[in-house]
Amino acid sequence: MSELELPNNWYSRFEFKLGVAASKQLPPDVGTEVAFAGRSNVGKSSVLNRVTQRKALARTSKLPGRTRELNYFEYDEGIYLVDLPGYGFAKVNEAMQKTWARLLEYYLRERRSLQGIFLIMDIRHPLGEFDQQMLDYARTCGIPMHILLNKADKLSKGAARNVMLQVQNELIGPGESCQLFSALKGTGVEEARQQLATWLFSKEKKSPGEL
Ligand code: GDP
Repeated sequence: MSELELPNNWYSRFEFKLGVAASKQLPPDVGTEVAFAGRSNVGKSSVLNRVTQRKALARTSKLPGRTRELNYFEYDEGIYLVDLPGYGFAKVNEAMQKTWARLLEYYLRERRSLQGIFLIMDIRHPLGEFDQQMLDYARTCGIPMHILLNKADKLSKGAARNVMLQVQNELIGPGESCQLFSALKGTGVEEARQQLATWLFSKEKKSPGEL
């Protein structure tokens, strides 16, 4: 990553840009973006805040209404972090859930700007049903995936390593990787930022369907 010359603290430059509730509201599909996904309560907001060194960046995503939107944070024109809605919490009716699922599916399938997905998991409950669905979807659509095993501080070092090895065993593609993370302690933040920078700024863009 040393070949990328980025401004100091580049990761703290993201600002909320817009919430997308329907595919027609998506920004023009011409830039680069990286999405953050995870079930609710895995610590996705805490991870986003830690990676961007912004105490309350992701609070925006939790405002009423925004939990049903793809929330865009802009670095520079056309360069975005996208916070995907968390799943498994809101007591919403079935029709609404279908609307989200459709938007998410459309986004993952069609979005050419999407360079990769950070999939956040709670290290104590890795690879749940939602995670498997995201992995399967990413594989089908040819989207690279980097898994953050968050809350690593909740386990001993040895136990955390064991979970990481187990998860690594499930990863099959060259575009799939995982690491330990703790939004609370800051563990793994540099590694995560490097992955983010590679996806957002590396000159070699992924072609559709290529990992
Ligand atoms: P989200 O719903 O996925 O956005 O999760 P939040 O960021 O709101 O975090 C959910 C809960 O997990 C909060 O109580 C956080 O303080 C806690 N949490 C998040 N990350 C960590 C972590 O790395 N370690 C520990 N111990 N707790 C965490």
